[in-house]
Amino acid sequence: MSSDVRVRFAPSPTGFFHIGSARTALFNWLYARHTGGTFVLRIEDTDRARDSEEFLTVILDGLRWLGLNWDEGPEVGGDYGPYFQSQRSDIYRAHLEILRKNGKAYDKDGAVYFKVSGEPQTIHDVIHGDVIRKEEKDFVIFRSDGSPVFHFVNVVDDMMMKITHVIRGEDHLSNTSKHVELFHAFGAPEPLFAHIPLILKSQGSGKMSKRDTGALVEDYVKQFFIPEAVRNYLCLLGWAPKNDREILPIEEIISLFDLPNVNKTNARFDEKKMAFMNAEYVRALPLDDFVMCSRRVLAQSDVPFESHGEEYLRSVLSICQEKLRGLKELPHFVSYFFTQNFEYDQKDLEKLRKKCDISARLNEFLKNLSSVSFGEAGIENYIHELSTTNQVTSGDYIHSLRLAVSGRSVGPGLYAMLKVLGKEEVIARIKRFLHI
Ligand code: GLU
Repeated sequence: MSSDVRVRFAPSPTGFFHIGSARTALFNWLYARHTGGTFVLRIEDTDRARDSEEFLTVILDGLRWLGLNWDEGPEVGGDYGPYFQSQRSDIYRAHLEILRKNGKAYDKDGAVYFKVSGEPQTIHDVIHGDVIRKEEKDFVIFRSDGSPVFHFVNVVDDMMMKITHVIRGEDHLSNTSKHVELFHAFGAPEPLFAHIPLILKSQGSGKMSKRDTGALVEDYVKQFFIPEAVRNYLCLLGWAPKNDREILPIEEIISLFDLPNVNKTNARFDEKKMAFMNAEYVRALPLDDFVMCSRRVLAQSDVPFESHGEEYLRSVLSICQEKLRGLKELPHFVSYFFTQNFEYDQKDLEKLRKKCDISARLNEFLKNLSSVSFGEAGIENYIHELSTTNQVTSGDYIHSLRLAVSGRSVGPGLYAMLKVLGKEEVIARIKRFLHI
């Protein structure tokens, strides 16, 4: 399917790729993919003092990480370039001349002003309906230093790039009457607008700012979030499929997404929900993919994960996957599988000591171990037998063993864990714990 729909994401490279900007990019991308239209990336870098190459990289990498590929723009080109406003000065100058000629622009105190019509303007907004606003005062379109102002370049570019739908944050709604005036002054039809709701921080009524924790895309990259999970969560900030489902494959979101069903009310950012969703994505990864992601995470840690070979690593990962809350905790979660040199959590140890006689249980466990077949079922049966014979709960064996072989009280299922470690290693660890 292809269509004439042309949308754009127009970030100013200010040094950060904020979650709010990512959501704006995402809604543009979704709409382009839903309609078979074109997703344009335009860099609004007229504010040269702040902009730089490195800041641009932050945005491009962030978009790529989220899988939001652009059809026209930096690196891919297109018929309507250049896609950097800093390279479009001639176009802006030429358009200023048009306004001068038709009497809509005049000079005052070194700056160039746009002459407003004095008429109320109707903004056709797909989300908010018609919004009527009137610009009372003429406004600056070129500063006295000769640089063009945001409203002017934004409209000229949307016009020249044949943008059909302007999808952007609601904070721009108040600018839009200026923009509509400018489109009309050029004799051009204005695009349809879709001002998407603001993102509020998790607590209070304030808008999320770059200083809030979890506000930058790079925070999630650094914490090894699954990009598809972040993208899925961002889809729900201002939009929801009708049946209340939350975790959806992107293909399904693309087919369901449409502008009229974007919410008018502000969305609230919920870091916990995002983390929860990420955990679901981690659990759902096919084992091969999970191993691949895990290798990348472990390579950046000091866990000697290659020490026991590929098969062992796969076994460890396969029993830990469903218990993880995110890849960030993986190195700590699996560290003891790769070294005997781990610490015993003193708090966990004290707590367990109060409940049961750890040494007694471990000694009982060691006693007839040589005849036990060391598969999950074999271990389970053996513990069951011990518990019946010695009149203590299976839990006492399970907790004592877990502490002795891993140093802590949480981890993957015990039987699977013992099996993966292997009988010899389990014996060695119990002996180390008992100092025998
Ligand atoms: N550069 C503007 C911004 O980052 C673009 C606004 C728009 O999408 O029109 O807010």
